[in-house]
Amino acid sequence: MKKTYVLHFDQSNYDKPIVYRLIKEYDLVFNILRAVILPKKESYLAMEISGEPSLMEQGLDYLVKQGVKVESINKSVKRNEQVCIHCGACTAICPTGALSIERPSMLVSFHPEECTACGLCVKACPPRAMEVSF
Ligand code: SF4
Ligand code: SF4
Repeated sequence: MKKTYVLHFDQSNYDKPIVYRLIKEYDLVFNILRAVILPKKESYLAMEISGEPSLMEQGLDYLVKQGVKVESINKSVKRNEQVCIHCGACTAICPTGALSIERPSMLVSFHPEECTACGLCVKACPPRAMEVSF
């Protein structure tokens, strides 16, 4: 399971190794998307966290117990139909089959209901037709 969260820290916890323990003790993987650290003021980290669902739940409980405010962010990926040139590059990389080549037209179709918003196609798309929105 992979989800995106914003973690808000305050004066009482911004300088503690909370994220280190979260990752180490709950066997989670993270990718920091944005970080604002202001000593003695509110700081925040926007990050993707992935791992086994029950461990993720325990990890989030741990954050709350440490006084961290946890905000879940819903991320989605859309295709800009005006920009897509149906080159097919994204279909080879999409892990869920949300992007596929239709035959015999050879047009690339996008099925949002199968998309997990992993973002792999965003980098793979030459004209940048795949867009992430939060
Ligand atoms: S890689 Fe981009 S341009 Fe090519 S088919 Fe996929 S969305 Fe369209
Ligand atoms: S975001 Fe990931 S799952 Fe969704 S269409 Fe792109 S590659 Fe496929």
